[in-house]
Amino acid sequence: MAELNTKQKMAIPYVHMPLHDAAKRVTNFEEVPVGYTMEQAMTEAQRCIQCKKPACIDGCPVGIAIPDFLKLIEEGKPAEAAKKIRETNFLPAACGRVCPQDKQCQAVCVVGKKGDAVGIGGLERFAADWERTHGTFTPPVIPPSTGKKVAIVGSGPAGLTAAYELRIRGHEVIVFEAFHRGGGVMVYGIPRFRLPLEIIDEDIKMLENMGVQFVYDMIIGKVLTLDDLLQNEKFDAVFIASGAGLPKMLGIKGENANGVYSANEYLTRIYLMQAMKFPRYSTPLYQGKRVGVIGAGNTGMDVLRTAKRLGAEVTCYYRRTRAEAPARTEELEHAEQEFLNWKWLHNPVEIIADENNFVKQIKCEKMALSEPDESGRRKPIGTGEFVYDDVDTIVFSLGCDVNPIIPSTDKEVRINKWGIIMVDHVTCQTSKKGVFAGGDAITGGSTVILAMGQAKNAAAAIDKYLKNELKWETASIPTDPNASGVQWAGRFAQGKR
Ligand code: SF4
Ligand code: SF4
Repeated sequence: MAELNTKQKMAIPYVHMPLHDAAKRVTNFEEVPVGYTMEQAMTEAQRCIQCKKPACIDGCPVGIAIPDFLKLIEEGKPAEAAKKIRETNFLPAACGRVCPQDKQCQAVCVVGKKGDAVGIGGLERFAADWERTHGTFTPPVIPPSTGKKVAIVGSGPAGLTAAYELRIRGHEVIVFEAFHRGGGVMVYGIPRFRLPLEIIDEDIKMLENMGVQFVYDMIIGKVLTLDDLLQNEKFDAVFIASGAGLPKMLGIKGENANGVYSANEYLTRIYLMQAMKFPRYSTPLYQGKRVGVIGAGNTGMDVLRTAKRLGAEVTCYYRRTRAEAPARTEELEHAEQEFLNWKWLHNPVEIIADENNFVKQIKCEKMALSEPDESGRRKPIGTGEFVYDDVDTIVFSLGCDVNPIIPSTDKEVRINKWGIIMVDHVTCQTSKKGVFAGGDAITGGSTVILAMGQAKNAAAAIDKYLKNELKWETASIPTDPNASGVQWAGRFAQGKR
C-alpha cells in the first residue's frame, strides 16, 4: 500500500466489521461479527497515524505495542502482527472480541477525537485469527525450572494470565478449577455468539503444552484449604483468581418463584452445562415463551440475546434510560438489532406467581430521571404509576459479588464488608503470607482485560517474592471494612520477564 500522510490517513472512513444478518443470527449461536478480510484490515490499520506518544498503549491494561502491530497489518504482515501482540497479551483472540475497547485503548485514540477511533480490537482479533487459522503461532520458550511451585485458584482470565506469566518465568504452575473445564467466566458467562469455545480451548491447550497443569472439579477452600496448599502440598505461593460469581438480586417479593434465575445460573446452565443442546446434554432449562431480563449491562445483553436464540419473546427492564445503560455501545447496538423489547425507566418491584408458584407477571413502577446532581448523575425517581407485564421467566442481571468460599474458610485473608479480598494495590499481596489475589476477587467485578492487567501485576510480584526480592509487607493492605476494592491503577508492576 502507498505511504499516506496524516491528513490522507485521517480521511479514510472507518471500516466497519461486517456482521451476520440479524434475522438469521437469532436462530443460531454462531459468532455475530464475520471478521475483517485482509484488505479491510489493511485499510483500517492504515487509519492509524502512528503517534509518537501513543495514548492507546496507556489505555491498554496489558500494554500492547498497538501502533507497531497496526503497522505490521497495514504492511500485510498479520502473522508478525500477532507475534507482536503476544509479547504482552497471550489471549489476543479473546481480548479482540470481548474487550471494552470503547472504554480502553480506543477511548483515547487520537483519531477518535475527530471521528471514529482506529478499530484496534477488531484488528487484534484479525491478527489472532490469522495466526490460528494459518498455523503461524510459535510457542514461547520456557526457561529452566526455578524449583518454585505456584498454585492458581481459578482458570478465568486472571488465573490463565498469571499461569502464563509465571510459567514463562520458569516456575511450576498448577491451576485449580472448581468446574469440569477451564476458562472461567469466558466459558460460563460469555455467550458462544460473542466468544467461540474453540478459542478458549486453544489457549488452554497452549498453556498445557507449556507445562501448566490443570486440576478440575477442585474447590479450593472446601476440598483443600490455603494452608493445605502452602503447608502440605508445599506450594511456594498461591494466587487467588476465583472471580465474582455470587449473584446480586433485588430483594423484591416473588424472587423465589419458579422461573426466576440469576444471569449467572441462566448462562452457566446454557453455556457451561450445555443446556442449549438439551436433551443431548442432560442439564435442563425451564424457559417459557416470554422472558423478562432485569438490568442493562453487558451481561444483561448476553442474557437477552441468548433467550431470543432459544425462541422467546424477550424484554429488557431498566430503571434509567438507554443513555445510562452500562452495556458497551457495541453490545447494546447488536442487541437492538435483534428484535427485542425495551422498557426503559421501568423499575421492577414485584414478581407475581400463579397458584403453583410459577412466574406469571412482573410489576414495575414507571420512573423519571431527576435533574443532574453535583456529580452530573441523574437519579431515577418513582412516578407512582405501576404497570403489569405477562412473563413466564425472569432473569436478574445486576452483577455479582466476590466468591466467598476462600475468605470464609481462611480468616487470615482480609476482606471488606462486601466480601472483596483486600490487597496491596501494587503487588496484589493479601494479608496472608504467600497468598496473592487478582481479577474480580479484588475488584468486585470488572472486565476480562482489567482482570488480565491485574494478574500481570500480581505475577510480576509473585516472581519477585519467589526470588526473595519482595519483602512481605502488609501495612498497605486496607483494614477498614468500608475500603473499596482495587480500581485499575496502571501497569506499574508488570515488569520484564
Ligand atoms: Fe485494546 Fe483490549 Fe487489545 Fe488492549 S487488549 S489493545 S485494551 S482491545
Ligand atoms: Fe494509532 Fe490511535 Fe494509537 Fe495514535 S492513538 S498510535 S492513531 S491507534
